[in-house]
Amino acid sequence: MFCPQCGKEAASAANYCSHCGTAIFPPPPRPMKKLYRSRTDRKVAGVCAGVADYLDIDPTLVRLIWVATVLFAGGGVLGYLIAWIVLPEEPLFVPSTVPSVQTAPR
Ligand SMILES: [Zn+2]
Repeated sequence: MFCPQCGKEAASAANYCSHCGTAIFPPPPRPMKKLYRSRTDRKVAGVCAGVADYLDIDPTLVRLIWVATVLFAGGGVLGYLIAWIVLPEEPLFVPSTVPSVQTAPR
């Protein structure tokens, strides 16, 4: 286990680097889940996959429920269109920047 900040080896059980204090296991990037339309898994506009991701369930299950709602209740299409308009698109994946290595001689 190496520190992502200073590159020095850290104890595998430690959560923080003993050299620079950097958290070796950073907190999850999305602690507060937001309801988004999925960019990666979409059949129409990504609403079902977004809902499934939010609820942590299979997108196919959400689609089946949605189709059943359309067939038996008739409100599914309107609901989908409203969700399409209301839900923001999932933010694009931005890779975390690699900390710059200091090259100046000491
Ligand atoms: Zn460090």
